Amino acid sequence: MKSAYLQRVYDQVVARDPGEKEFHQAVYEVLESLDVIVEKHPEYEKAGLMERFVEPERMILFRVPWVDDAGNVQVNRGYRIQFNSAIGPYKGGLRLHPSVNLSILKFLGFEQILKNSLTGLPIGGGKGGSDFDPHGKSDAEVMRFCQSFITELYRHIGQFTDVPAGDIGTGAREIGYMFGQYKRIVDAHEAGILTGKGLSYGGSLARTEATGYGLCYLTEEMLKCMRNTSFAGKTVVISGSGNVAIFATEKATQLGAKVVTMSDSNGYIYDPNGIQLDVVKDIKLGHRGRIKEYAERVPGSTYTEGCSGVWTVKCDIALPCATQNEINEESAKAIVAGGAMAVAEGANMPSTPEAIKVYLDAGILYAPAKAANAGGVATSALEMSQNSMRYSWSFEEVDAKLHDIMVNIFHNIYDASKECGVEGNLMVGANVAGFLKVANAMMAHGIV
Ligand code: NDP
Repeated sequence: MKSAYLQRVYDQVVARDPGEKEFHQAVYEVLESLDVIVEKHPEYEKAGLMERFVEPERMILFRVPWVDDAGNVQVNRGYRIQFNSAIGPYKGGLRLHPSVNLSILKFLGFEQILKNSLTGLPIGGGKGGSDFDPHGKSDAEVMRFCQSFITELYRHIGQFTDVPAGDIGTGAREIGYMFGQYKRIVDAHEAGILTGKGLSYGGSLARTEATGYGLCYLTEEMLKCMRNTSFAGKTVVISGSGNVAIFATEKATQLGAKVVTMSDSNGYIYDPNGIQLDVVKDIKLGHRGRIKEYAERVPGSTYTEGCSGVWTVKCDIALPCATQNEINEESAKAIVAGGAMAVAEGANMPSTPEAIKVYLDAGILYAPAKAANAGGVATSALEMSQNSMRYSWSFEEVDAKLHDIMVNIFHNIYDASKECGVEGNLMVGANVAGFLKVANAMMAHGIV
Protein backbone atom coordinates (compact mmCIF):
# COMPACT_ATOMS: atom_id res chain seq x y z
CA MET A 1 0.00 0.00 0.00
CA LYS A 2 1.44 3.36 -1.01
CA SER A 3 -0.81 5.57 1.13
CA ALA A 4 0.39 5.98 4.73
CA TYR A 5 -3.22 6.66 5.75
CA LEU A 6 -4.50 3.38 4.29
CA GLN A 7 -1.59 1.44 5.78
CA ARG A 8 -2.37 2.93 9.20
CA VAL A 9 -6.04 1.96 8.86
CA TYR A 10 -5.06 -1.59 7.90
CA ASP A 11 -2.59 -1.87 10.79
CA GLN A 12 -5.34 -0.78 13.20
CA VAL A 13 -7.68 -3.47 11.83
CA VAL A 14 -5.04 -6.15 12.44
CA ALA A 15 -4.08 -4.82 15.89
CA ARG A 16 -7.70 -4.59 17.01
CA ASP A 17 -8.70 -8.12 15.98
CA PRO A 18 -5.46 -10.06 15.46
CA GLY A 19 -7.06 -13.47 14.88
CA GLU A 20 -9.38 -12.48 12.02
CA LYS A 21 -7.27 -13.56 9.05
CA GLU A 22 -10.06 -13.79 6.45
CA PHE A 23 -11.24 -10.30 7.40
CA HIS A 24 -7.69 -8.93 7.16
CA GLN A 25 -7.33 -10.53 3.72
CA ALA A 26 -10.53 -8.92 2.41
CA VAL A 27 -9.70 -5.49 3.87
CA TYR A 28 -6.13 -5.57 2.53
CA GLU A 29 -7.27 -6.40 -0.99
CA VAL A 30 -9.73 -3.51 -1.03
CA LEU A 31 -7.52 -0.88 0.63
CA GLU A 32 -4.64 -1.74 -1.69
CA SER A 33 -6.87 -0.80 -4.64
CA LEU A 34 -7.88 2.54 -3.16
CA ASP A 35 -4.48 4.29 -3.08
CA VAL A 36 -5.30 6.45 -6.09
CA ILE A 37 -8.74 7.37 -4.71
CA VAL A 38 -7.48 8.41 -1.30
CA GLU A 39 -4.83 10.54 -2.96
CA LYS A 40 -7.55 12.39 -4.92
CA HIS A 41 -9.78 12.83 -1.84
CA PRO A 42 -7.79 14.16 1.12
CA GLU A 43 -11.13 15.00 2.81
CA TYR A 44 -11.64 11.26 3.48
CA GLU A 45 -8.80 11.20 6.01
CA LYS A 46 -10.14 14.30 7.83
CA ALA A 47 -13.55 12.64 8.07
CA GLY A 48 -12.06 9.38 9.38
CA LEU A 49 -13.89 7.76 6.48
CA MET A 50 -11.70 4.69 6.07
CA GLU A 51 -11.59 4.01 9.82
CA ARG A 52 -15.40 3.98 9.79
CA PHE A 53 -15.60 1.99 6.56
CA VAL A 54 -13.68 -0.98 8.02
CA GLU A 55 -15.64 -1.09 11.30
CA PRO A 56 -19.12 -2.71 11.27
CA GLU A 57 -21.94 -0.41 12.37
CA ARG A 58 -23.24 -3.18 14.62
CA MET A 59 -22.41 -6.83 15.41
CA ILE A 60 -24.99 -9.07 17.03
CA LEU A 61 -23.97 -12.37 18.66
CA PHE A 62 -26.45 -14.69 20.30
CA ARG A 63 -27.12 -18.15 21.69
CA VAL A 64 -29.21 -20.54 19.58
CA PRO A 65 -30.50 -23.41 21.74
CA TRP A 66 -32.51 -26.22 20.11
CA VAL A 67 -33.45 -29.83 20.84
CA ASP A 68 -32.29 -32.65 18.54
CA ASP A 69 -34.33 -35.72 17.58
CA ALA A 70 -32.81 -37.72 20.44
CA GLY A 71 -34.05 -35.13 22.96
CA ASN A 72 -30.60 -33.64 23.63
CA VAL A 73 -30.16 -29.88 23.99
CA GLN A 74 -27.78 -28.40 21.40
CA VAL A 75 -26.36 -24.89 21.54
CA ASN A 76 -25.04 -23.04 18.50
CA ARG A 77 -23.90 -19.46 18.11
CA GLY A 78 -25.82 -17.00 15.93
CA TYR A 79 -24.37 -13.88 14.29
CA ARG A 80 -25.50 -10.88 12.29
CA ILE A 81 -22.94 -8.33 11.11
CA GLN A 82 -24.70 -5.08 10.15
CA PHE A 83 -21.72 -3.62 8.38
CA ASN A 84 -22.76 -0.56 6.40
CA SER A 85 -26.16 1.04 5.75
CA ALA A 86 -24.99 4.19 3.92
CA ILE A 87 -26.80 3.42 0.66
CA GLY A 88 -29.65 1.19 1.86
CA PRO A 89 -30.76 -1.35 4.47
CA TYR A 90 -28.18 -4.00 5.40
CA LYS A 91 -28.45 -6.87 2.93
CA GLY A 92 -26.56 -10.15 2.82
CA GLY A 93 -26.98 -13.86 3.36
CA LEU A 94 -27.05 -16.20 6.33
CA ARG A 95 -24.36 -18.91 6.25
CA LEU A 96 -24.94 -22.16 8.15
CA HIS A 97 -21.65 -24.06 8.27
CA PRO A 98 -19.44 -25.40 11.10
CA SER A 99 -16.58 -23.11 9.97
CA VAL A 100 -18.60 -19.93 10.60
CA ASN A 101 -16.91 -17.44 12.93
CA LEU A 102 -16.64 -13.68 13.33
CA SER A 103 -13.70 -13.36 10.94
CA ILE A 104 -15.50 -15.15 8.09
CA LEU A 105 -18.72 -13.21 8.56
CA LYS A 106 -16.90 -9.87 8.81
CA PHE A 107 -15.03 -10.61 5.57
CA LEU A 108 -18.29 -11.57 3.87
CA GLY A 109 -20.13 -8.51 5.23
CA PHE A 110 -17.32 -6.20 4.15
CA GLU A 111 -17.26 -7.62 0.62
CA GLN A 112 -21.03 -7.37 0.52
CA ILE A 113 -20.93 -3.56 0.95
CA LEU A 114 -19.01 -3.14 -2.31
CA LYS A 115 -20.88 -5.88 -4.15
CA ASN A 116 -24.25 -4.38 -3.28
CA SER A 117 -23.05 -0.95 -4.33
CA LEU A 118 -21.94 -2.36 -7.71
CA THR A 119 -25.45 -3.66 -8.43
CA GLY A 120 -26.60 -0.02 -8.67
CA LEU A 121 -29.48 -0.84 -6.31
CA PRO A 122 -30.12 0.79 -2.90
CA ILE A 123 -28.79 -1.92 -0.56
CA GLY A 124 -26.19 -1.73 2.22
CA GLY A 125 -23.92 -4.55 3.37
CA GLY A 126 -24.44 -7.24 6.01
CA LYS A 127 -23.92 -10.94 6.62
CA GLY A 128 -24.85 -13.46 9.27
CA GLY A 129 -25.26 -17.09 10.10
CA SER A 130 -24.33 -19.76 12.57
CA ASP A 131 -21.87 -22.58 13.18
CA PHE A 132 -24.84 -24.96 12.87
CA ASP A 133 -24.26 -27.73 10.28
CA PRO A 134 -27.44 -28.71 8.40
CA HIS A 135 -25.70 -31.77 6.86
CA GLY A 136 -27.07 -34.99 8.30
CA LYS A 137 -29.82 -33.24 10.29
CA SER A 138 -33.47 -34.21 9.91
CA ASP A 139 -35.97 -31.67 8.55
CA ALA A 140 -37.45 -31.41 12.05
CA GLU A 141 -34.02 -30.59 13.54
CA VAL A 142 -33.34 -27.96 10.86
CA MET A 143 -36.76 -26.45 11.57
CA ARG A 144 -36.18 -26.26 15.32
CA PHE A 145 -32.79 -24.65 14.77
CA CYS A 146 -34.21 -22.09 12.31
CA GLN A 147 -37.07 -21.23 14.64
CA SER A 148 -34.71 -20.67 17.55
CA PHE A 149 -32.35 -18.62 15.37
CA ILE A 150 -35.13 -16.29 14.20
CA THR A 151 -36.63 -15.99 17.67
CA GLU A 152 -33.60 -13.86 18.51
CA LEU A 153 -32.80 -12.36 15.10
CA TYR A 154 -36.34 -11.14 14.34
CA ARG A 155 -35.93 -8.03 16.53
CA HIS A 156 -32.90 -6.87 14.52
CA ILE A 157 -34.27 -7.22 10.96
CA GLY A 158 -36.92 -5.41 8.92
CA GLN A 159 -37.59 -4.28 5.35
CA PHE A 160 -36.03 -0.85 6.03
CA THR A 161 -33.37 -2.11 8.47
CA ASP A 162 -31.80 -5.40 7.48
CA VAL A 163 -32.93 -8.01 4.95
CA PRO A 164 -31.12 -11.39 5.24
CA ALA A 165 -31.06 -14.07 2.51
CA GLY A 166 -29.58 -17.52 1.83
CA ASP A 167 -25.93 -18.53 1.55
CA ILE A 168 -23.99 -21.77 2.10
CA GLY A 169 -26.27 -24.14 4.03
CA THR A 170 -29.26 -21.80 3.86
CA GLY A 171 -31.53 -22.69 0.96
CA ALA A 172 -35.28 -22.57 0.30
CA ARG A 173 -36.06 -24.98 3.15
CA GLU A 174 -34.24 -22.91 5.79
CA ILE A 175 -35.60 -19.57 4.50
CA GLY A 176 -39.12 -21.06 4.65
CA TYR A 177 -38.75 -22.10 8.30
CA MET A 178 -37.24 -18.72 9.22
CA PHE A 179 -39.97 -16.77 7.46
CA GLY A 180 -42.67 -18.90 9.10
CA GLN A 181 -41.30 -18.22 12.57
CA TYR A 182 -40.89 -14.48 11.91
CA LYS A 183 -44.49 -14.22 10.69
CA ARG A 184 -45.71 -16.06 13.75
CA ILE A 185 -43.82 -13.78 16.15
CA VAL A 186 -44.81 -10.42 14.64
CA ASP A 187 -48.24 -11.52 13.43
CA ALA A 188 -47.79 -9.87 10.03
CA HIS A 189 -46.94 -11.10 6.56
CA GLU A 190 -43.96 -8.80 6.01
CA ALA A 191 -42.63 -10.37 2.83
CA GLY A 192 -39.77 -7.87 2.55
CA ILE A 193 -37.88 -9.07 5.64
CA LEU A 194 -36.11 -12.01 3.96
CA THR A 195 -35.25 -12.85 0.34
CA GLY A 196 -34.85 -16.19 -1.36
CA LYS A 197 -38.42 -16.98 -0.32
CA GLY A 198 -40.56 -19.65 -1.97
CA LEU A 199 -42.69 -18.50 -4.91
CA SER A 200 -45.96 -19.12 -3.07
CA TYR A 201 -45.17 -16.59 -0.32
CA GLY A 202 -43.37 -13.65 -1.93
CA GLY A 203 -40.31 -15.10 -3.62
CA SER A 204 -39.08 -13.94 -7.01
CA LEU A 205 -38.89 -16.05 -10.12
CA ALA A 206 -35.24 -16.47 -11.22
CA ARG A 207 -33.81 -15.78 -7.72
CA THR A 208 -32.73 -19.42 -7.41
CA GLU A 209 -30.87 -19.26 -10.71
CA ALA A 210 -29.61 -15.68 -10.32
CA THR A 211 -26.09 -16.03 -8.91
CA GLY A 212 -25.00 -18.76 -11.34
CA TYR A 213 -26.75 -17.17 -14.33
CA GLY A 214 -25.43 -13.72 -13.42
CA LEU A 215 -21.89 -15.09 -13.17
CA CYS A 216 -22.18 -16.38 -16.74
CA TYR A 217 -23.75 -13.15 -18.05
CA LEU A 218 -20.87 -11.08 -16.68
CA THR A 219 -18.29 -13.60 -17.92
CA GLU A 220 -19.84 -13.64 -21.39
CA GLU A 221 -19.67 -9.83 -21.58
CA MET A 222 -16.05 -9.87 -20.34
CA LEU A 223 -15.09 -12.49 -22.96
CA LYS A 224 -16.81 -10.46 -25.68
CA CYS A 225 -15.36 -7.06 -24.78
CA MET A 226 -11.87 -8.08 -23.70
CA ARG A 227 -11.13 -11.13 -25.90
CA ASN A 228 -13.69 -10.90 -28.71
CA THR A 229 -14.94 -14.41 -27.92
CA SER A 230 -17.71 -16.16 -25.92
CA PHE A 231 -18.58 -19.29 -23.95
CA ALA A 232 -19.46 -21.14 -27.18
CA GLY A 233 -17.18 -24.13 -27.70
CA LYS A 234 -15.19 -23.53 -24.48
CA THR A 235 -14.32 -26.15 -21.85
CA VAL A 236 -15.28 -25.00 -18.35
CA VAL A 237 -14.17 -26.24 -14.93
CA ILE A 238 -16.62 -25.55 -12.09
CA SER A 239 -16.15 -26.32 -8.38
CA GLY A 240 -18.99 -26.88 -5.94
CA SER A 241 -22.37 -28.47 -6.60
CA GLY A 242 -24.62 -26.17 -4.61
CA ASN A 243 -26.89 -23.37 -5.71
CA VAL A 244 -24.28 -21.25 -7.48
CA ALA A 245 -22.45 -24.14 -9.16
CA ILE A 246 -25.60 -25.83 -10.46
CA PHE A 247 -27.01 -22.74 -12.16
CA ALA A 248 -23.61 -21.62 -13.46
CA THR A 249 -23.33 -25.05 -15.08
CA GLU A 250 -26.82 -24.69 -16.53
CA LYS A 251 -26.22 -21.25 -18.07
CA ALA A 252 -22.68 -21.97 -19.32
CA THR A 253 -24.04 -25.06 -21.06
CA GLN A 254 -26.93 -23.06 -22.57
CA LEU A 255 -24.35 -20.58 -23.88
CA GLY A 256 -22.60 -23.39 -25.73
CA ALA A 257 -19.80 -24.34 -23.32
CA LYS A 258 -18.94 -27.84 -22.09
CA VAL A 259 -18.69 -28.03 -18.28
CA VAL A 260 -16.49 -31.00 -17.35
CA THR A 261 -16.22 -30.90 -13.53
CA MET A 262 -18.21 -30.27 -10.34
CA SER A 263 -17.29 -30.98 -6.71
CA ASP A 264 -18.36 -31.01 -3.09
CA SER A 265 -16.33 -30.85 0.10
CA ASN A 266 -15.23 -34.49 -0.33
CA GLY A 267 -14.04 -34.60 -3.94
CA TYR A 268 -14.74 -33.84 -7.60
CA ILE A 269 -16.23 -35.49 -10.67
CA TYR A 270 -14.82 -35.26 -14.20
CA ASP A 271 -17.00 -35.99 -17.19
CA PRO A 272 -15.19 -35.49 -20.51
CA ASN A 273 -18.54 -35.59 -22.34
CA GLY A 274 -19.95 -32.66 -20.36
CA ILE A 275 -21.74 -32.79 -17.00
CA GLN A 276 -25.29 -34.15 -17.15
CA LEU A 277 -26.93 -31.58 -14.94
CA ASP A 278 -30.18 -33.49 -14.47
CA VAL A 279 -28.17 -36.20 -12.66
CA VAL A 280 -26.43 -33.62 -10.43
CA LYS A 281 -29.77 -31.94 -9.65
CA ASP A 282 -31.26 -35.30 -8.73
CA ILE A 283 -28.34 -36.04 -6.39
CA LYS A 284 -28.02 -32.59 -4.78
CA LEU A 285 -31.50 -31.07 -4.95
CA GLY A 286 -33.41 -34.35 -5.02
CA HIS A 287 -31.96 -36.18 -2.03
CA ARG A 288 -29.03 -34.07 -0.68
CA GLY A 289 -26.55 -36.80 -1.71
CA ARG A 290 -22.78 -36.70 -2.37
CA ILE A 291 -21.29 -35.81 -5.77
CA LYS A 292 -19.46 -39.16 -5.81
CA GLU A 293 -22.75 -40.79 -6.79
CA TYR A 294 -22.51 -39.14 -10.24
CA ALA A 295 -19.54 -41.31 -11.25
CA GLU A 296 -21.46 -44.41 -10.16
CA ARG A 297 -24.39 -43.39 -12.37
CA VAL A 298 -22.76 -41.89 -15.49
CA PRO A 299 -20.47 -44.16 -17.56
CA GLY A 300 -17.24 -42.52 -18.69
CA SER A 301 -17.07 -40.11 -15.74
CA THR A 302 -14.65 -40.40 -12.80
CA TYR A 303 -14.61 -39.33 -9.15
CA THR A 304 -11.47 -38.19 -7.31
CA GLU A 305 -11.24 -37.67 -3.54
CA GLY A 306 -10.08 -34.22 -2.40
CA CYS A 307 -11.09 -30.78 -3.68
CA SER A 308 -7.95 -29.10 -4.97
CA GLY A 309 -7.36 -31.60 -7.82
CA VAL A 310 -10.25 -30.06 -9.74
CA TRP A 311 -7.96 -27.15 -10.71
CA THR A 312 -5.54 -29.49 -12.49
CA VAL A 313 -8.21 -30.31 -15.08
CA LYS A 314 -7.41 -28.44 -18.34
CA CYS A 315 -9.95 -25.77 -19.26
CA ASP A 316 -10.54 -22.49 -21.08
CA ILE A 317 -12.57 -20.94 -18.25
CA ALA A 318 -12.52 -21.68 -14.50
CA LEU A 319 -15.55 -20.80 -12.37
CA PRO A 320 -14.88 -21.44 -8.64
CA CYS A 321 -18.32 -21.75 -7.01
CA ALA A 322 -17.70 -23.53 -3.67
CA THR A 323 -16.08 -21.50 -0.89
CA GLN A 324 -13.42 -19.00 0.23
CA ASN A 325 -9.71 -19.62 -0.47
CA GLU A 326 -10.37 -22.76 -2.50
CA ILE A 327 -7.71 -21.70 -5.06
CA ASN A 328 -4.21 -21.17 -3.68
CA GLU A 329 -1.07 -20.21 -5.58
CA GLU A 330 -0.35 -23.78 -6.67
CA SER A 331 -3.89 -24.33 -7.95
CA ALA A 332 -3.82 -20.97 -9.77
CA LYS A 333 -0.57 -21.99 -11.48
CA ALA A 334 -2.23 -25.25 -12.53
CA ILE A 335 -5.16 -23.31 -14.02
CA VAL A 336 -2.80 -21.06 -15.99
CA ALA A 337 -0.61 -24.00 -17.07
CA GLY A 338 -3.74 -25.76 -18.34
CA GLY A 339 -4.24 -22.92 -20.81
CA ALA A 340 -7.18 -21.10 -19.19
CA MET A 341 -8.03 -17.64 -20.55
CA ALA A 342 -10.34 -16.58 -17.70
CA VAL A 343 -11.23 -17.08 -14.04
CA ALA A 344 -14.58 -15.69 -12.85
CA GLU A 345 -15.57 -16.10 -9.21
CA GLY A 346 -18.98 -17.47 -8.27
CA ALA A 347 -18.01 -18.12 -4.65
CA ASN A 348 -16.96 -15.31 -2.31
CA MET A 349 -13.17 -14.76 -2.17
CA PRO A 350 -12.35 -18.21 -3.60
CA SER A 351 -8.85 -17.10 -4.67
CA THR A 352 -6.06 -16.35 -2.19
CA PRO A 353 -4.07 -13.12 -2.78
CA GLU A 354 -1.20 -15.25 -4.14
CA ALA A 355 -3.58 -16.91 -6.60
CA ILE A 356 -4.86 -13.53 -7.83
CA LYS A 357 -1.28 -12.42 -8.41
CA VAL A 358 -0.73 -15.53 -10.57
CA TYR A 359 -3.76 -14.64 -12.76
CA LEU A 360 -2.73 -11.01 -13.11
CA ASP A 361 0.92 -11.83 -13.86
CA ALA A 362 -0.16 -14.37 -16.48
CA GLY A 363 -2.45 -11.79 -18.08
CA ILE A 364 -5.55 -13.98 -18.00
CA LEU A 365 -8.98 -12.41 -17.45
CA TYR A 366 -10.01 -12.24 -13.81
CA ALA A 367 -13.54 -11.30 -12.68
CA PRO A 368 -13.59 -10.86 -8.88
CA ALA A 369 -16.46 -12.21 -6.80
CA LYS A 370 -17.89 -8.90 -5.69
CA ALA A 371 -18.74 -8.16 -9.32
CA ALA A 372 -19.10 -11.63 -10.81
CA ASN A 373 -21.47 -13.10 -8.22
CA ALA A 374 -23.51 -9.93 -7.57
CA GLY A 375 -26.45 -11.34 -9.57
CA GLY A 376 -27.80 -13.15 -6.50
CA VAL A 377 -28.10 -10.11 -4.32
CA ALA A 378 -29.24 -7.96 -7.24
CA THR A 379 -32.15 -10.34 -7.78
CA SER A 380 -32.81 -10.32 -4.04
CA ALA A 381 -33.22 -6.55 -4.36
CA LEU A 382 -35.61 -7.17 -7.27
CA GLU A 383 -37.51 -9.54 -4.95
CA MET A 384 -37.73 -6.68 -2.41
CA SER A 385 -39.08 -4.36 -5.13
CA GLN A 386 -41.77 -6.88 -6.08
CA ASN A 387 -42.69 -7.32 -2.41
CA SER A 388 -43.07 -3.54 -2.01
CA MET A 389 -45.25 -3.33 -5.12
CA ARG A 390 -47.28 -6.41 -4.13
CA TYR A 391 -46.62 -7.61 -7.66
CA SER A 392 -44.64 -10.37 -9.41
CA TRP A 393 -42.62 -10.13 -12.59
CA SER A 394 -42.35 -13.08 -14.98
CA PHE A 395 -39.19 -15.20 -15.14
CA GLU A 396 -38.26 -13.52 -18.42
CA GLU A 397 -38.67 -10.03 -16.96
CA VAL A 398 -36.47 -10.78 -13.94
CA ASP A 399 -33.90 -12.61 -16.05
CA ALA A 400 -33.71 -9.69 -18.50
CA LYS A 401 -33.17 -7.22 -15.62
CA LEU A 402 -30.50 -9.51 -14.17
CA HIS A 403 -28.76 -9.69 -17.55
CA ASP A 404 -28.76 -5.87 -17.86
CA ILE A 405 -27.42 -5.47 -14.31
CA MET A 406 -24.53 -7.87 -14.92
CA VAL A 407 -23.61 -6.25 -18.25
CA ASN A 408 -23.68 -2.83 -16.54
CA ILE A 409 -21.50 -4.07 -13.69
CA PHE A 410 -18.92 -5.33 -16.18
CA HIS A 411 -18.80 -1.98 -18.00
CA ASN A 412 -18.66 0.02 -14.74
CA ILE A 413 -15.73 -1.94 -13.39
CA TYR A 414 -13.94 -2.04 -16.73
CA ASP A 415 -14.33 1.74 -17.12
CA ALA A 416 -13.16 2.27 -13.53
CA SER A 417 -10.05 0.18 -14.24
CA LYS A 418 -9.28 2.48 -17.19
CA GLU A 419 -9.85 5.62 -15.11
CA CYS A 420 -7.43 4.27 -12.50
CA GLY A 421 -4.76 3.70 -15.18
CA VAL A 422 -4.85 -0.10 -14.85
CA GLU A 423 -7.05 -1.03 -17.81
CA GLY A 424 -8.39 -4.55 -17.54
CA ASN A 425 -7.58 -4.99 -13.85
CA LEU A 426 -11.18 -5.69 -12.86
CA MET A 427 -10.27 -6.25 -9.22
CA VAL A 428 -9.16 -2.63 -8.86
CA GLY A 429 -12.09 -1.52 -11.02
CA ALA A 430 -14.62 -3.33 -8.83
CA ASN A 431 -13.16 -2.07 -5.57
CA VAL A 432 -13.01 1.54 -6.76
CA ALA A 433 -16.43 1.65 -8.46
CA GLY A 434 -18.12 -0.05 -5.49
CA PHE A 435 -16.37 2.13 -2.94
CA LEU A 436 -17.00 5.58 -4.46
CA LYS A 437 -20.78 5.38 -4.21
CA VAL A 438 -20.64 4.29 -0.57
CA ALA A 439 -18.00 6.91 0.26
CA ASN A 440 -20.13 9.69 -1.26
CA ALA A 441 -23.12 8.64 0.83
CA MET A 442 -21.02 8.37 4.00
CA MET A 443 -19.56 11.84 3.43
CA ALA A 444 -23.07 13.26 2.92
CA HIS A 445 -24.28 11.73 6.20
CA GLY A 446 -21.62 13.38 8.40
CA ILE A 447 -19.74 11.56 11.15
CA VAL A 448 -22.10 8.67 11.91
P1 NDP B 1 -24.42 -24.23 -1.19
O1 NDP B 1 -24.48 -24.56 0.24
O2 NDP B 1 -25.63 -24.40 -2.04
O3 NDP B 1 -23.24 -25.04 -1.89
C1 NDP B 1 -21.93 -24.93 -1.48
C2 NDP B 1 -21.09 -25.91 -2.28
O4 NDP B 1 -19.71 -25.71 -1.97
C3 NDP B 1 -21.38 -27.36 -1.95
O5 NDP B 1 -21.12 -28.16 -3.07
C4 NDP B 1 -20.39 -27.63 -0.83
O6 NDP B 1 -20.09 -29.01 -0.65
C5 NDP B 1 -19.19 -26.88 -1.31
N1 NDP B 1 -18.36 -26.48 -0.16
C6 NDP B 1 -18.76 -25.80 0.95
N2 NDP B 1 -17.74 -25.64 1.79
C7 NDP B 1 -16.68 -26.22 1.20
C8 NDP B 1 -15.33 -26.39 1.56
N3 NDP B 1 -14.88 -25.91 2.73
N4 NDP B 1 -14.52 -27.03 0.70
C9 NDP B 1 -14.98 -27.51 -0.49
N5 NDP B 1 -16.25 -27.38 -0.89
C10 NDP B 1 -17.08 -26.75 -0.06
O7 NDP B 1 -23.89 -22.71 -1.26
P2 NDP B 1 -23.98 -21.68 -2.45
O8 NDP B 1 -23.86 -22.37 -3.76
O9 NDP B 1 -25.14 -20.81 -2.19
O10 NDP B 1 -22.68 -20.80 -2.18
C11 NDP B 1 -21.39 -21.12 -2.76
C12 NDP B 1 -20.52 -19.88 -2.69
O11 NDP B 1 -21.15 -18.80 -3.42
C13 NDP B 1 -20.26 -19.31 -1.29
O12 NDP B 1 -18.98 -18.72 -1.26
C14 NDP B 1 -21.33 -18.22 -1.17
O13 NDP B 1 -20.97 -17.23 -0.22
C15 NDP B 1 -21.29 -17.66 -2.58
N6 NDP B 1 -22.47 -16.90 -2.99
C16 NDP B 1 -23.72 -17.47 -2.97
C17 NDP B 1 -24.80 -16.74 -3.40
C18 NDP B 1 -26.15 -17.35 -3.51
O14 NDP B 1 -27.05 -16.68 -4.07
N7 NDP B 1 -26.38 -18.57 -3.08
C19 NDP B 1 -24.68 -15.33 -3.78
C20 NDP B 1 -23.30 -14.85 -3.84
C21 NDP B 1 -22.26 -15.63 -3.41
P3 NDP B 1 -20.74 -29.83 0.58
O15 NDP B 1 -22.15 -30.11 0.18
O16 NDP B 1 -19.88 -31.03 0.69
O17 NDP B 1 -20.64 -28.94 1.79
